[in-house]
Amino acid sequence: MSEHEHPCSEKVYGSSGNWGHSYPCTRTATVERNKKRYCWQHDPERIGREEVKRQEKYEAECEQEGASRRRAAAIAEYHEAVGELLADLDARVAMKAPLAPRMAHHRDRLANIHKRAEGEPEEGGTE
Ligand SMILES: [Zn+2]
Repeated sequence: MSEHEHPCSEKVYGSSGNWGHSYPCTRTATVERNKKRYCWQHDPERIGREEVKRQEKYEAECEQEGASRRRAAAIAEYHEAVGELLADLDARVAMKAPLAPRMAHHRDRLANIHKRAEGEPEEGGTE
């Protein structure tokens, strides 16, 4: 058998009418890995590279999904914080209490929500 006609070492499964049986791949081998020859499609190194690429793509998608989840949670939190801020200011105005002492608290709270949305570490709150 010549170099070119060397068949692929891989076995394939389930062609029509032959379900559940395996038979050798009929493609011509183009690469040699660990003393076995494989066609392009069954090249274990190529399959490994594809797997790495798939994994990286999956991780990037997860990362992106986490980021949008973080932002959605932050938006909800932001709305809540702004509502509380306005209620706090209304109450203080009604009581003619000074607003200034609460400003830093609200500012820090909103800043921390923003940091969470961006995945940055928070600063210690000034509760
Ligand atoms: Zn093959």
